Amino acid sequence: MKTEAGKSEAEPRPEKPEAKPARRGAKPAEQRLSGIPVSPGIVIGTIYDTTEAPAEAPRREITANAVELERTKLQDAAALSRKQVGKLKTRLTVLPEEAQEELEPLLDAYILMLGNSRLLRGARKRIGEELLSAETAVQDEAEAIAQAILAAKGDDKAGLNRRAGEVREIARRLTRNLTATPFRSLKGVPAGAIVVADELTPADAALLEPGKIAAVATEEGGADGHTAIMLRALGIPAVLGCHGLTAAARRGDMAMLDGGAGIVALHPDAATLTRAKAGLAAQAKERARLGKLKTLPAETLDGQAVELQANLEIPAELPLIAEAGAQGIGLLRTEFLFMNRDDLPDEDAQVEAYRGILEAMGQDPVTIRVLDWGGEKDMEALAEGVPVPTGPNPALGLRGLRLLLKRPALLEEQFAAILRVAHLGQVRILLPMVTVPSEVAQAREIYERVARRLRRRGEALPEKLPPLGAMIETPGAALAADAIALEADFFAIGTNDLTMYTLAVDRAEIDVAHLYDPLHPAVLRLMQFATEAALRLRMPVSVCGEMGGNPKLVPLLLGLGLRSLSMNASSIPRVKQAVRSLDIDDCARFARRVMEQSDPKRIAELVEEFAARTSEK
Ligand code: PEP
Ligand code: MG
Repeated sequence: MKTEAGKSEAEPRPEKPEAKPARRGAKPAEQRLSGIPVSPGIVIGTIYDTTEAPAEAPRREITANAVELERTKLQDAAALSRKQVGKLKTRLTVLPEEAQEELEPLLDAYILMLGNSRLLRGARKRIGEELLSAETAVQDEAEAIAQAILAAKGDDKAGLNRRAGEVREIARRLTRNLTATPFRSLKGVPAGAIVVADELTPADAALLEPGKIAAVATEEGGADGHTAIMLRALGIPAVLGCHGLTAAARRGDMAMLDGGAGIVALHPDAATLTRAKAGLAAQAKERARLGKLKTLPAETLDGQAVELQANLEIPAELPLIAEAGAQGIGLLRTEFLFMNRDDLPDEDAQVEAYRGILEAMGQDPVTIRVLDWGGEKDMEALAEGVPVPTGPNPALGLRGLRLLLKRPALLEEQFAAILRVAHLGQVRILLPMVTVPSEVAQAREIYERVARRLRRRGEALPEKLPPLGAMIETPGAALAADAIALEADFFAIGTNDLTMYTLAVDRAEIDVAHLYDPLHPAVLRLMQFATEAALRLRMPVSVCGEMGGNPKLVPLLLGLGLRSLSMNASSIPRVKQAVRSLDIDDCARFARRVMEQSDPKRIAELVEEFAARTSEK
């Protein structure tokens, strides 16, 4: 499932092939599918397939000077749709042969319709002549073509219906790509359901109600993409990148999902159910055991304190953060403020959002990262006037701080909103996607200008402005960390993007997921370099990427000199348990050994061996 421009939505699946034709009345045989284990937890529930929601867009008229803009949008949406259908074609191989034979010509027809077709020519014309928005023009033109097909003479009524349906299907795809409308069907998800989708965007994930939805399974997605991060943060068991899932799963099917093992079993048999129930009991016991750690300090055996903080993606996680015993928020991703809406939140709306979070956190430190728009997150809140990153490589384009420096009004507004509530707690401000030291200097200039303006206006600002830090999440930033350290007040190492950019592997792309490896020596060396640059200047440095929440990696991170980790709240108890079982000298020796290795597989083995040795003690 995809919900916004830049992603596809309901894939054209005219008929779902049965996993196995079942005898009437007979229980279908169990069908096991594996994917990427993204968020742990065992669930037995019923499938809720969300891939079939309609694309809706209200009628919209435009003024004559918006004609070219709408035409460009249409052209971009058509290109994107062609890319999506092309990608879908490459996926056909996972389907049974019969289904492939049926779908292939259909997808070819779709690709033709997304080229220089009557549909697109007609929509283009309507934009100019009738002054309609691109999505309205597409819908009108598609309906006119569908009606003309249905009115044609001939005996093959079924064929005519099918062709009209195909035109409407393409119009729906274009509409979804033209609008940033979130997927409505998430609203109707019944309690306890296992949500199945071809893809879930971060904006979709933000709409999930953790208390209601039992689990999520998707066909697409990678382990450290933002959707995965959000699912983990919300504590929703999830398996992503599960090939063949949407073709095999039907709404109402019973299923067992094991988010830790990356398994979805459709129509689970008695043995699977017995094992799952035993797993559920063990899960409850473990939760109770970890709960007891909450009030104990995060301290190594030799008495070194380690700061364990939480990452926050949406305010719904605040109760989980309190429950986990986090020492504040180490990374507040502010993108949630800009998601699932079609206009930008103004300064006052942002003030209210930050105030709510700061009040909930009391005097615990809160690191607020300014908007990191771009890359996978580039399609949210398509507001007028904001340059949405386009081009062949959005992740390498106008993302994060680059975009904010290009549109300083956005940054000024966000700085102002944060500064206005900074007196309520212990605030730090973090800049995403830094690559050049001067970007931090430029941001600081804006920051200080905004502070001066607010002071002139009589706002109560803290005497000393909150520290301004830099994310180290590109190889460039890591290698220039000593220079960036002269401009920034603290570092937060974003291992998710650092891994992606170092290894040239998209963090949400299933086809290259096997190459995404934070234990690659290149990534570790960059982390080491950046950490040492900060430590030399006695500057605070933390890890806030997904590595920070993996208990098995704690010895390595502590051994590299890190003493502050920020992670999704649900990981804190396990990470605390790891910290409390370690001795810093052992960690330092272990890190030296790891850093001598050149083979990522060997590093993974060493990590496993060390974790096993520590847990035996
Ligand atoms: C990272 O890149 O590691 C990070 C923490 O930022 P995000 O996951 O939000 O891109
Ligand atoms: Mg990042």
